[in-house]
Amino acid sequence: MIVDILTLFPEMFTGPLTSSILKRAQERDLIVFNLFNIRDFSTNKHHTVDDTPYGGGAGMVIGPEPVFGAVEHVLALRGPMPSRVLLMCPQGRPFDQALAADLAQEKHLVIICGHYEGIDERVREQLVTDEISIGDYVLTGGELPAMVVADAVARLIPGVLGEDTSSEEESFSAGLLEYPQYTRPREYRSLMVPEVLLSGHHEEIRKWRRRQSLMRTLACRPELLAQTKLEPEDKIIIKKILIDLRGLDLG
Ligand code: SAM
Repeated sequence: MIVDILTLFPEMFTGPLTSSILKRAQERDLIVFNLFNIRDFSTNKHHTVDDTPYGGGAGMVIGPEPVFGAVEHVLALRGPMPSRVLLMCPQGRPFDQALAADLAQEKHLVIICGHYEGIDERVREQLVTDEISIGDYVLTGGELPAMVVADAVARLIPGVLGEDTSSEEESFSAGLLEYPQYTRPREYRSLMVPEVLLSGHHEEIRKWRRRQSLMRTLACRPELLAQTKLEPEDKIIIKKILIDLRGLDLG
């Protein structure tokens, strides 16, 4: 996959794209990240990219000209390859694991990072295929959202997490939150790892993890259960959890 990121602050990406799993994925040619400075596509004398908003109001708006220039440049570079052009935008579709999985199927993503008060509306109307929000809050720019999207998508590309690591059981992949994880030591400050995980009994471990996943989801994100395909076994587990909860004596 090729990911072309259009930003006014390419230096912000240095850490996330040159460390850990994303670094390894690039070294193994599983993903290529390219950074383009939107300012390089400004054709005015001082290379300005923003201006005051028509109609008045606070702040500055990034004009259409450098963004059209940057998007058209990367689309021409990639030729006939199908592309999705993503605009990071607090008004966009909420980003989630399903959207990350959908984007991970693509060969080419263009990510546009806004800044200041945002980007001229004509960019959204003419160039953008997906507007994506990473949450109901406003950040100073689209760079952090772009890193979030790039990271979540990259780790779903086959091979990025390595042969022995699967993203299938993780939180949200199957519509549930993941079960608790433990590693050595077996006892830490008198806190013990649950006995079943040490038993080597795969079926018992699977059942324990499923129950924990269901309990966590029920406690923290119950709305996810309504959108998840539950097995008959899950429904029995949930009924038991609810019965146990009803029996709780809270004093
Ligand atoms: N004036 C805009 C509004 O009220 O919708 C907010 C602009 S924000 C200060 C500047 C840029 O940060 C946006 O163009 C967008 O690229 C990015 N941004 C801020 N919050 C975001 C979020 N929650 N998700 C995605 N992008 C965001």
